[in-house]
Amino acid sequence: MKLLITGGTIVTSEKTFLSDVLVTDEKISAVGKNISNDNVDNIDATGMYIFPGAIDAHVHLDLPTPAGLSSDNFETGSIAALYGGTTSIIDFVTPSKNESLVSAFEKRLKEAKNSKTDFGFHMSITSWNKDTAKEMEVCVKQFGITSFKTYMAYKGLIGIEENELKEVMKTAVKLNALVTVHCENGNEILKLQKNFIYSGKTAPLYHALSHPSYVEAGSVKRVIELAEETGCPVYIVHTSAKESLEMIEEAQSKGQAVYSETCPQYLLLDDSVYNLPLPDSLKYVISPPLRKKEDQRYLWKGLKNGSIKVVATDHCPFNLKGQKDSGINDFTKIPNGAGGIEHRLSLLYTYGVLKNRISINQFVAVTSTNPAKVFGLYPQKGEIAVGSDADIVIWNPVPNNIISAKTHHQRCDTNIYEGFTTKGSPGYVIKKGKVVIKNNKLFSKDFAGNYLKRK
Ligand SMILES: [Zn+2]
Repeated sequence: MKLLITGGTIVTSEKTFLSDVLVTDEKISAVGKNISNDNVDNIDATGMYIFPGAIDAHVHLDLPTPAGLSSDNFETGSIAALYGGTTSIIDFVTPSKNESLVSAFEKRLKEAKNSKTDFGFHMSITSWNKDTAKEMEVCVKQFGITSFKTYMAYKGLIGIEENELKEVMKTAVKLNALVTVHCENGNEILKLQKNFIYSGKTAPLYHALSHPSYVEAGSVKRVIELAEETGCPVYIVHTSAKESLEMIEEAQSKGQAVYSETCPQYLLLDDSVYNLPLPDSLKYVISPPLRKKEDQRYLWKGLKNGSIKVVATDHCPFNLKGQKDSGINDFTKIPNGAGGIEHRLSLLYTYGVLKNRISINQFVAVTSTNPAKVFGLYPQKGEIAVGSDADIVIWNPVPNNIISAKTHHQRCDTNIYEGFTTKGSPGYVIKKGKVVIKNNKLFSKDFAGNYLKRK
């Protein structure tokens, strides 16, 4: 099967140029002008951009919580991702404390079998025991899992102690793997939460107030110190606070391998939403919480100067009815998370590229090329070049859209970007050489995503 895309403007993380692209079966087989067009299907991409398929390196589909599973499963979430131009995702294996990493991986692989995008996993280390180091090695060498997730928050559940994180880091160094960290001081959060609940302060606003910026930044500082001590590269997920990014930038300026990720919600929403009346305020309960406008400005600056490497979504939706509202009388019972897998590109294109906060090449870098490089998928993913997978987004810069839970494809009764206007959307999404989305319509469900072994 051959597919020729003509007349489009290719945008990579480094260059913007007019060129045709030839796809043969699942791969890009030629990039250039005047490619011979015998016996090929043709797509006219005149006036459109050609991006490498986007990679969302931080999603939680089918995540078990006391309020039930996150509302998108691998099929619905990955389809929503494709509608928005994301063709690969990295989700998580989250073993319960002392569960074998290997059996948790095998279970998770089955849960993900209906994914329509290609998918990989970060392995969460939720406790440390005598088998963990050995099992981490199996993850890297046999399963192609090259990144481990740790939580400084969620103490007593999946969070670990500093001495355990240090063991994870030491082992990761030996395995040439990356450690990713949710930086928030869990003990401090628990203390603040208890005080608020004790004095009858139960509204979502107190979720935000029990996760102040200093709780994140203090944890970032400690994690950077441990990473320096052990020589381990670290990736700070969902950086939300200015203070945190300042510390990350300081470490980067000394040459330390500290990567930073942020998410559209921290760039585009602020903490004023916690003053909305119930039940609306429930939907913004995420960790870390939304911050101030000043934090947003600093994060945009970080994207522009490159100190933030990746924009992912932390997609973890819950329905307002029946899930989020289980904490209507106690903010500690509200499941933490919100959806966003579908709108990352349109939001970042509209509010980043079109507002001149980042260049279009930086847009491609943070949504596709950088996550591919950081997480061991490059150049199979994240590039428009001969030999790369033919995961391609043909971006139409013209259409205007309004985001709404009524029209989105995420399986959730609410959307934190409700009413946001966007400009630009995928005209075509091509996954491994197959057109799966055309003019905002899913062609068929007759295709499957593949598990991504990373290097
Ligand atoms: Zn997350």
